[in-house]
Amino acid sequence: MKVAKALIDQLETTKVLTKEEWLYLLDHRNESLSQYLFSHSRAAAQSVFGNDVYIRGLIEISNFCKNNCYYCGIRRGNPGVNRYRLSQREILQCCLRGYDLGFRTFVLQGGEDPGFRDEDLANTVRIIKEWFPNVAVTLSVGEKSRDVYQMFREAGADRYLLRHETYLRSHYESLHPNSMSWERRIQCLEDLKSLGYQVGTGFMVGSPHQTNECLAEDLLFIQRFSPQMVGIGPFIPHHQTPFAKEPAGTLDLTLFLLGVLRLMNPRLLLPATTALNTIAPQGRQMGILAGANVIMPNLSPEFACKNYELYDHKKYSGMENAEAIEKIRNDLAKIGYEIKISKGDFK
Ligand code: SAH
Repeated sequence: MKVAKALIDQLETTKVLTKEEWLYLLDHRNESLSQYLFSHSRAAAQSVFGNDVYIRGLIEISNFCKNNCYYCGIRRGNPGVNRYRLSQREILQCCLRGYDLGFRTFVLQGGEDPGFRDEDLANTVRIIKEWFPNVAVTLSVGEKSRDVYQMFREAGADRYLLRHETYLRSHYESLHPNSMSWERRIQCLEDLKSLGYQVGTGFMVGSPHQTNECLAEDLLFIQRFSPQMVGIGPFIPHHQTPFAKEPAGTLDLTLFLLGVLRLMNPRLLLPATTALNTIAPQGRQMGILAGANVIMPNLSPEFACKNYELYDHKKYSGMENAEAIEKIRNDLAKIGYEIKISKGDFK
C-alpha cells in the first residue's frame, strides 16, 4: 500500500510511470488507494479548471457502419439495427437547439458510413462554423485518409476523437476482424495530430480479454502520444454482437483510470462518458469527482439516439428541452461544480 501510494505521488510529480510501475499500481488497486488517488486527481483538475465542467453536445449523425467490431452494437453484421443518417438540415437543427442551451462545442459522431460523403460532412462543418463562429466542432467518424482529415480541418473542424481502443496488438486483433488494422488506427491518430487537430484517443475499460498489461500499454501510449483529450468508458455488452455474453467493465476500474489520466496531465480534456453514466446512476458525478472535467450530453433527435445503440441499456436523456440541462446543472451543483459556457479548448 505504501509503495502504491508512493507511485501515485510520483505520477503526480513526474507525470510518467514505467510499465512495471503501471502494472504494480493496477495490480494493487483497492478502495483506500482509489480514495487516495481521487483526492489528488480531483485537486489536480481543480487547479486547472476550478469547479468548471465543460459540456459538449453529442450529435449522432449516422449509425450505418462498414466495420464489424465485435463489441459494437451498430456493427455491419447486426441486421437488427434500424439504420438512419441525419440530413444536413437535421444536424443544423441540433446545433441551433444546442447553441440556445449553452453548448459551444458540437461533436458529430457516427459509424463509418460510406453513404455519408466526406465532402458533405466537410460542407456541414463549414456551415456550422459560419453560423456559430464561437463554437468548436469535434468530429468522430472513424478512420479516413490524411487527405480527408485535411479537408475536414480546412472546413473548420477543431478536434477529432478516435479511440485507439487498445494498444496491445494481439488484444486489438481479438476485438476486431482482420479487415481492420492496428497500424492504420495508430497512423490515423498521427495524421490527425500532424494536421493540428486537438486529438482525443482512448479505450474501453474491461473489454473482453483485457488484462492489466493491456491497460499498462494503453497508459504508456497515452503518455507518449500526449493527446489533448482522452475518452474512456466501461465496455458494456450489446445483445446482438459476438460479445453479447461478456461481462461489462466496472465502475471502480473506470474511475481509477480517470484518476491516473488526470494526474498524467492536469490540463487534459477528460469526459465522464455516457457509458460510465449507464453502468452507474451517479456515474457522471463520480467521474467528475475522480478528475474528469467534461460531459457530453446528447443533442441527437430521439429516433437517432435510440438507434445509435453501441451497447445495451443506453438511455435517451435528450436535450430537447431546457429542463434536461437544468437537471444536469442541479446534479453538478450538488457536488460543487457548474457548467461553464465556453468552447473549452485545450490550454
Ligand atoms: N466510428 C467512430 C465512432 C465510434 S463510437 C470511430 O471509430 O471512432 C465511439 C466509441 O464507442 C468507440 O470508439 C468505442 O470505444 C465505444 N464503444 C463501442 N461499442 C461499445 C460498447 N459495447 N461498450 C462501450 N463502449 C463502446
